[in-house]
Amino acid sequence: MKKLIVLLTLFCVILASCEKKEPEGYTASINAMDTVAFVRVYDEKYAAFADECTELMLQLEAELSVTLTGSRVYHLNKNGSVPSTEHLKAITGYALELKDKTFGAFDPCIYPLVRLWGFTEENDKKRVPSEDEIIETLKKASESKLYIKNDNLYISNGGAVDFGGIAKGYAAKLMLEILKENGVDAALIDLGGNIQTVGSKSDGTPWNIAIKNPVEDGYTCYLSLGETAVVTSGSDVRYFIGDDGKKYHHIIDPKTGYPSDAGIISVTVIHEDAAIADGLSTAFFVLGIEKSLEIAEHYGAEVVVIENEIISITKGLQDKFTLDESAKDKYNLKVLD
Ligand code: AMP
Ligand code: MG
Repeated sequence: MKKLIVLLTLFCVILASCEKKEPEGYTASINAMDTVAFVRVYDEKYAAFADECTELMLQLEAELSVTLTGSRVYHLNKNGSVPSTEHLKAITGYALELKDKTFGAFDPCIYPLVRLWGFTEENDKKRVPSEDEIIETLKKASESKLYIKNDNLYISNGGAVDFGGIAKGYAAKLMLEILKENGVDAALIDLGGNIQTVGSKSDGTPWNIAIKNPVEDGYTCYLSLGETAVVTSGSDVRYFIGDDGKKYHHIIDPKTGYPSDAGIISVTVIHEDAAIADGLSTAFFVLGIEKSLEIAEHYGAEVVVIENEIISITKGLQDKFTLDESAKDKYNLKVLD
């Protein structure tokens, strides 16, 4: 009897603690596209649509991955052409537009260089290549062309494609569509730093999106926003320290073949289209602040740039921006004109 009472008490304690921990709503999560993705709906009745979103992430990975041997992009890079799909056409359209609008700073034909530096699971041996290797590979990447013809996708001159700078944004954009079409009025999509808010919070207050501190744990600032995408590119995501003691990160300047060196530590782009926000954040990291501002204006995008001692924001964020207490001593805030 004593045993039974102990067991029953234990059961009640477990139940109580489960109840306490159980969050409101439902979160679907998946490990895909090199990250852990979360889709959180704030009403459990929409749980199936959150699951649909994470399944889509797997489908997209199976088409777009540069390393999965069965993927379309893998075939494209191996054979120079592949039958296109709806997703491939759409993401190629985005990539080519972004390449054009960012003066080539966003370049989907960057893969030979990404591979050379070892920033891929296929060849996870990150190293500083020799100058000759860089010159040769840069030539290959810059001379190759990605295009669609007769429902096929082509990459010319033995080049190779990498949609890694835009794939998560493209996924988030499609997830937003799935959730909206199905009446979801409050959700948060987090694809490893690619955030998409959906609808509005039930209490009517704006979403509060935190921007990570790129050099230590914690956050630098918060943005108070409605339905939008918030995408960050940073040198803290994937990098290695070379034998020379220098830090080499994964965003390559298509003009030099080296990791970009525009003085930016992290750049966050806020735009209604997550694919555009994703492509722009990668490009802005390469371009530096001045050139990026013109492009941001063209797209109606807002930007947060973190440099060593300065956080710069575009004007449209002035009344939506809060600096974290821990960042107040370290950073000066600058509003960009
Ligand atoms: P993101 O984290 O969105 O900035 O994307 C970085 C990823 O995009 C890298 O890991 C590469 O796969 C790819 N990438 C690197 N440099 C470029 C570039 N200049 N243009 C387009 N994609 C790039
Ligand atoms: Mg990107």
